[in-house]
Amino acid sequence: MSTNGPVVRLGHLYPDHLNIYADRGNIAVFQRRLEWRGLALDVVEVGLGDEIPEDCNLYYLGGGQDRDQLMVAQDLVGKADSLRRAAEGGAAVLAVCGGYQLMGHSYVAANGEEMAGTALLDLETTAGTDRLIGDVVLSVDLDGATGTVVGYENHAGRTRLGSECAPLGRVHKGHGNNGEDGFEGAVSGRCVGTYLHGPLLPKNPWLADTVLRWALDHSGANIELEPLDDTLERSAHATAVARAGLKR
Ligand code: GLN
Repeated sequence: MSTNGPVVRLGHLYPDHLNIYADRGNIAVFQRRLEWRGLALDVVEVGLGDEIPEDCNLYYLGGGQDRDQLMVAQDLVGKADSLRRAAEGGAAVLAVCGGYQLMGHSYVAANGEEMAGTALLDLETTAGTDRLIGDVVLSVDLDGATGTVVGYENHAGRTRLGSECAPLGRVHKGHGNNGEDGFEGAVSGRCVGTYLHGPLLPKNPWLADTVLRWALDHSGANIELEPLDDTLERSAHATAVARAGLKR
């Protein structure tokens, strides 16, 4: 699809190592939702050994197994400053599951190995002895709006938030950050972390547009995102809510 409007630049961090549960699909959603409005997404893939460009408007990290996460963590620790500077400058960050854990201070994996994170989010994660798996439904307040977010979780990590970030949502169905406190994900400024895979964005267009609005604002484009025909997305969302046995 050809577009000639403003371009959002997305840094996709470690696409070869953090990409389970079709997390790459989230990038496709960002791309299409921009293209449908005559805008464009420029994706810069950042792998092991690559510098993190600081001029992106949006950064994305997907989920990964502990083994991949360790490789990524060792590489990321030396580059975390670039990502932090970009985020402090107003770029948006969306991190899913393994990527979410690496946005905290540390992650202690199932084998006891400790990995340092970027500390963009004030949280710590330690793997438990069993996995928290299943469908998730959240209520989310973000950027002045309230909505329901649906997805799927599969993680051993138990995440505890510090006082410098807020949970992304309250759990109506599922386990969330640790299976105990009733919260899921974390938000600080424009940095959002979540355990929800599936991928996350196709069934949650409202969340996709919130992140895109932040990224467009950071790009300097003064653009209101036009509403799209989200009939299909809304229907997929409603099916996920109904499958969880909830009405919404
Ligand atoms: N390795 C992490 C855990 O099990 C993340 C898994 C994932 O990204 N699905 O907690």
